[in-house]
Amino acid sequence: MRGKRIWVAGHTGMVGSALVRRLQNEGCDLLQVSHDELDLTRQADTEAWMARARPDAIFIAAAKVGGIIANSTYPANFLYDNAMIAMNIMHTAHQLGVQKLLWLGSSCVYPKFAEQPISEDSLLTGALEPTNEAYAVAKIAGLKLAEAYARQYGQRFITAMPTNLYGPNDNFDLQNAHVLPALIRKMHEAKIAGSSKAIVWGTGTPKREFLHVDDLADACVFIMKNHAGPEIINIGSGREVSIGELAKLIAGIVGYEGTIVFDTTKPDGTPRKLVDPARLESMGWRPSVALEAGISDLYLRWQQSMHVSLS
Ligand code: GDP
Repeated sequence: MRGKRIWVAGHTGMVGSALVRRLQNEGCDLLQVSHDELDLTRQADTEAWMARARPDAIFIAAAKVGGIIANSTYPANFLYDNAMIAMNIMHTAHQLGVQKLLWLGSSCVYPKFAEQPISEDSLLTGALEPTNEAYAVAKIAGLKLAEAYARQYGQRFITAMPTNLYGPNDNFDLQNAHVLPALIRKMHEAKIAGSSKAIVWGTGTPKREFLHVDDLADACVFIMKNHAGPEIINIGSGREVSIGELAKLIAGIVGYEGTIVFDTTKPDGTPRKLVDPARLESMGWRPSVALEAGISDLYLRWQQSMHVSLS
């Protein structure tokens, strides 16, 4: 990557900012453009910016993401924005002859009742989880487009399939957040308010696998260097916890000693989504951030960021 012009699309987000941190040691020329300067859902603007910037390689970390309620409340936005980002960037990258491009899928694009751990081969073998179907359809469109450019034109456009992610620059807004930052915030606020109740959505029985975003960024750079595609590649941590276990773990880290109450009027979503990391492991990559350490670090950073925003 040394000396190459590398564009991290979506560099201010959780994934994009982790990629920027990770790429800082690679001696590449990092390209970035803010959302205010360029709306990636606008085709002509995207084409014009990319033609000027001339990237050699692209990581597409730009995405509209959100937790279970946000996904099911705004399906049109999740489908339109994510599909347009894929179409506009990949088509232009092909026209400009970009050497390599990495698209990010997600474990939620696999069928709701896929056999666990989920192998890459289970893609499109069954119905999707309804709460995130719109997002999943956009992500599938992107990965199939990458595959199509690879097949039809020999472009090295590849797709990585991360499991549930968390880490610095995560979203703590309770309406849109994913479960892990949402529970950090809920437990912290319950502790501060001296409340004896913290509400966890659903039954607490669904299981999720969590990967720290620094591990994801490292894996993406590894894949960019070592894989030409078009096969998709899962990225996971290999550790699955139930939402109830996660809530207890977070309560311990935050120091919340009250009761955990399950609000079963809220959806559970898919029962499990543990990805099978065998393909990436056989190439020689493994994660390194333990869940406890990752949550503790995120809790500390979030408190610091609140402190900064209040002072
Ligand atoms: P998912 O992995 O796509 O289902 O996305 P989420 O991270 O939003 O939700 C994961 C699981 O955590 C679901 O079973 C949610 O019902 C559950 N959950 C429990 N409490 C919360 C919460 O406060 N926010 C969110 N987003 N999910 C929660």
